[in-house]
Amino acid sequence: MERTYIMVKPDGVERGLVGEIVQRFEKKGYQLLALQLLHPTKQHLEQHYADLAGKPFFPKLINYMLTGPVVGMVWGGKGVVKTGRVMLGATNPLDSAPGTIRGDYCVDVGKNLCHGSDSVESAEKEIALWFPDGVRAYKRHVDSLIYE
Ligand code: UDP
Ligand code: MG
Repeated sequence: MERTYIMVKPDGVERGLVGEIVQRFEKKGYQLLALQLLHPTKQHLEQHYADLAGKPFFPKLINYMLTGPVVGMVWGGKGVVKTGRVMLGATNPLDSAPGTIRGDYCVDVGKNLCHGSDSVESAEKEIALWFPDGVRAYKRHVDSLIYE
């Protein structure tokens, strides 16, 4: 099953948007496979965002991500990586369509509430990084009502 790593950033946790974000993925029909609140270390965040290490906004991004706990989740289902990012909205919330999480709840790119993996490969890397003990699969009876 395809899996993605979705993370509510510190602003989203503090603003009480964890439930809203979880609910959108639940209502869509995706399967919750793991969920944790955690205070990430700088090293952990630098590893998560390693691809962006050369960008001018990198230090600001890491400091933002260190302002409070994050809620990390693994969601599974058909097309969940790509559709998950559509549900989050464009990186810059001013370009995010209404109806997306960023389009509905935030304004600035440096406070854009949430993270979603950008490919199946990076999703698996991120899941291994944030859930090193592994994520257990389970059968959902409701899948017969969601998938044809
Ligand atoms: N970011 C930023 N300024 C920028 C671009 C990105 O502060 O000009 C932050 C923003 O929080 C974004 C994160 O860096 O979500 C990671 O950037 P990426 O390009 O991976 O965007 P995402 O995959 O989160 O949409
Ligand atoms: Mg990204």
